[in-house]
Amino acid sequence: KLSKRLETVASFVPTGAIIADIGSDHAYLPCYLINKKIAKKAIAGEVVKGPFESAVRQVREEGLIHKISVRLADGLEAIDESDKVDAITIAGMGGPLIVSILENKPSALDSVTRLILQPNIHAKVIREWAIKNNWALLDEVILEEDDKIYEVLVLQRGEMELSEVEILLGKHLLAEKSEVFIKKWQKEIENWERVLTSLDGAEPTSEILAKRGELLHLIDLVKGELHNEN
Ligand code: SAM
Repeated sequence: KLSKRLETVASFVPTGAIIADIGSDHAYLPCYLINKKIAKKAIAGEVVKGPFESAVRQVREEGLIHKISVRLADGLEAIDESDKVDAITIAGMGGPLIVSILENKPSALDSVTRLILQPNIHAKVIREWAIKNNWALLDEVILEEDDKIYEVLVLQRGEMELSEVEILLGKHLLAEKSEVFIKKWQKEIENWERVLTSLDGAEPTSEILAKRGELLHLIDLVKGELHNEN
């Protein structure tokens, strides 16, 4: 059975899509998408040999070799024009790594109309990348599984303007303010406050002062949103 996290990612894959799952590990997601007849064809990309071999094994065991092509490649090098990929999933990595994968071979996105990204941390950099590269947030989900909180960002082509706080917290997630969302950001505020306290003892160099200022700003910004009823 697929994790709730990957099931959420899968729920945004358009029916009939040709999908590339980059950093696929066991290829659980592409196997699920083919078995459920959501995707028409899939590519599972992996840059590390061990996970690549697990993906090959899984796809064979499920009898899906005609529908899923498993490729050993770095990021979007796993796909080319002739694949006509229309949706890409990248899950279970940090936001900065996801962005670096997207930036490494922009031409691989030419045929793509939807990106479903699941950063474990720093979703903010994905929203910044999206604004710069003409992708807009179609939806966002925040969920908790096994005591971890995950965000899923769904992007389609289009222009988008976000405020500073929407970039940090997520436009849709902020509008919804779910319990999990509040829990995540309360924890972040606690972390920032802890760092702030630890800076109290430090010599006030310009760097320390800048860091303090930045933390105070973030705490203020996010607290303001959590306490604001709409
Ligand atoms: N996507 C799966 C999931 O969400 O459960 C697996 C996540 S696993 C934590 C991250 C995987 O991404 C690892 O198997 C790693 O080898 C792979 N990976 C990291 N950087 C990559 C890159 N540049 N290209 C392809 N795969 C990459």
